[in-house]
Amino acid sequence: MRSYTALIFDLFDTLIDFRRDLMPLIQVNGAEVRSTSRHVYDQFTSVCPGVPFEAFYAAFMDGYREAEQIRARELREITAEDRFRLVLSKLRIPLDAAPSDFPEWLAEVHMAKLSEAMMFPPENLPLLEWARARYRLAVISNFDHAPTARRVLERTGTVGWFEQVVVSAEEGVRKPHREIFVRTLTRMGLSPHEALFIGDSLDIDIAGAKGVGMDVAWVNRNGAAVRDGIPAPDYTLARLSELRQKLDR
Ligand SMILES: [Mg+2]
Repeated sequence: MRSYTALIFDLFDTLIDFRRDLMPLIQVNGAEVRSTSRHVYDQFTSVCPGVPFEAFYAAFMDGYREAEQIRARELREITAEDRFRLVLSKLRIPLDAAPSDFPEWLAEVHMAKLSEAMMFPPENLPLLEWARARYRLAVISNFDHAPTARRVLERTGTVGWFEQVVVSAEEGVRKPHREIFVRTLTRMGLSPHEALFIGDSLDIDIAGAKGVGMDVAWVNRNGAAVRDGIPAPDYTLARLSELRQKLDR
C-alpha cells in the first residue's frame, strides 16, 4: 500500500448523498414525478405569464437532456444557467424580454429545491475529522452550479477542511477528463502518486483518476461488479467510513 499525502474526494454520493426520494413529488401529464420544475415554473410565470405548465415542463426536460448529452459526449460542463438559457430558447422567450439575470435566477430556484435532497450522512463527519488530521484534503465534483456545491459543504461545517473544492461548472471540463484532475494536483503541488482519489462512479471517478496515475478507492455501496475496460480500483469500500480501516492498516 502506498502512503498518501492527500485524499481527494468526489462530492455527490461519496461525501454527500443525493436523495431523489426527497425531491418534490409533482403531477405531470397524469403521472407522478420527482422534479423541481413546478417551483421553477412558479418563478418563471412571474416574469413570463401565459405558458402552460406542461409546455414549460417539456422544455425543462428537453434542456436537461440536451445538456446531459453534451456533457457525456464532450466531457465539458453545461452550467445550470446555460441549461436554463436553453430552456428559455426552447420556449421561444427572447433573452432580452426578461431581466438579464433571469437564467441565473431560475438556476438558483432550481438549486435551492435540489439542495433539500442533498444529505450529509452523520458517519462521514468522524471520517473527515480523522482524515483532516492526517492528510491534505480536496474535492473534485462534476456539478453544474459551483455555489451550490460549496453551500452544501458549508452546511456540513467541513468546507474549510478542503484546500481545493474544484467544481466542473467553474473549470469547464468534467471528470473523467484528465484536465480536471491534473489542475487540482498542480494547484496542490502534488504528483499523482501522492494522492488517493475516492469516488462512487466507475466511469467518472475510477477511470478518470486512474487515467492520470492516481490510486483510487471505489465507494461501491450496491455491491456492483467491476466492469471490463475500467481499471481495477486499489480499494473497494462498502461505505465511505470504511476508508479509515483500509488506510490505518
Ligand atoms: Mg459521485
